[in-house]
This record gives sequence, structure tokens and C-alpha cells, in this order.
Amino acid sequence: MLNIVIFGAPGSGKGTQSEKITEKYGIRHISTGDVLREEIKNGTELGKTAKRYIDEGQLLPDELIIDILASVLDSMKGHNGVIFDGFPRTIPQAEALKKLLQDRGQDITAMLDLDVPEEELITRLLKRGQESGRADDNMETIKKRLDVYKSQTFPLIEYYKKEGKYNHIKGVGALDDIFRDIAAVIETSSGK
Ligand code: AMP
Repeated sequence: MLNIVIFGAPGSGKGTQSEKITEKYGIRHISTGDVLREEIKNGTELGKTAKRYIDEGQLLPDELIIDILASVLDSMKGHNGVIFDGFPRTIPQAEALKKLLQDRGQDITAMLDLDVPEEELITRLLKRGQESGRADDNMETIKKRLDVYKSQTFPLIEYYKKEGKYNHIKGVGALDDIFRDIAAVIETSSGK
């Protein structure tokens, strides 16, 4: 069972690399951001709540996003593992994920930290905003999201180092080169 946490600031390429990982290793992909955007599209109550936070560049409350993650995880049966994209984003979320997996007799295989300089992140996010029309990819919200990343999410690097799961990945350069580094870490960590 492969359980991978793909980590990094907004715009670091988590979604793109997650797709390549799911393709190569046949594991499932949970992007909490995608789950929330789907709820917004469907006009659900959860979607309405999520939209307020997303438009402000703020994180949803831990209890809420942990419940969502747990129910998505429970809805997936008979898989070989999961790539967690955009979750955890806080220490309580990381602790909750550890417990959720432990309760299922599982563990995190590796955490991959896609490291990209801030200037490059801003350039990528502005470009994505123009191309995809993602509402939170505008300069004002990007700045807030990067601040939230630094204050609430960045401390997870230390957390995963202590857990012995941390792997640094240089997140700039050709997509295939980045993926080669990721695959090497996954294969070493899973003993393949
Ligand atoms: P993403 O697509 O991962 O960049 O997420 C977009 C937005 O969804 C974030 O800016 C948050 O508002 C919300 N979100 C996604 N994942 C989480 C999470 N793990 N915890 C709290 N909020 C989240």
C-alpha cells in the first residue's frame, strides 16, 4: 500500500505531478481543493461554506476538512494506495491523517516537498488564473494564500522530518525531470 503526501506551496505543481504518480503507480488521488471546487460547482451547502474561505485565500477549519477527507477515504475501496494532494495543510490535519491511516492498519510511505521559489510560484499562479479562470488565482488572493502557507503549512516540513517521512524535491525544471526524482523517492521509500 502506497500512501504519498504531496506537499508544497500553491503553484508548486502538486496536481500535475499527482496525475503522473497515479498513472505510474495505479493509486488513487485525493485533492481536497478539487473536492471543494466540485461542491461549489454543485451548489451544495458545503460548497457555499467552502467558497467563503477559498475566495479569501484562507483554510477551511480543521474539523471540517478532516471530516471531508475521512469520508472521501472511506468511499474508496480496494485500492493500492492514495496520493494526498493539498492535505494536510496544518499540524492537526497531519496528526489526523496519521491516525486515520493507523486505524486502517496503514502508514504514510513518504512525504514529497515540491520546493519552488516564491517568484516562480506567483508567475505560475497568475498564468493558471488567466488560462483556467480559477477565481483564487488573482494577485490579492495569491498573496494571502502564500502567507497562509508560510504561517500554517510550512511547519509541516519539520513535522515530517521528525516522522522520518520528509523528502525534498526540486520543483523547478522540466516536468519529466521532476517526476523522475519523485519516482526515485517513491521506489526507495516503498522498497520497490
Ligand atoms: P488547492 O486547490 O489545494 O490550492 O486548495 C484551494 C483552497 O481550498 C485553499 O486555498 C483552501 O481554501 C481550501 N483547502 C484545500 N485543501 C485544504 C485543507 N487541507 N485545509 C483547509 N483548506 C483547504
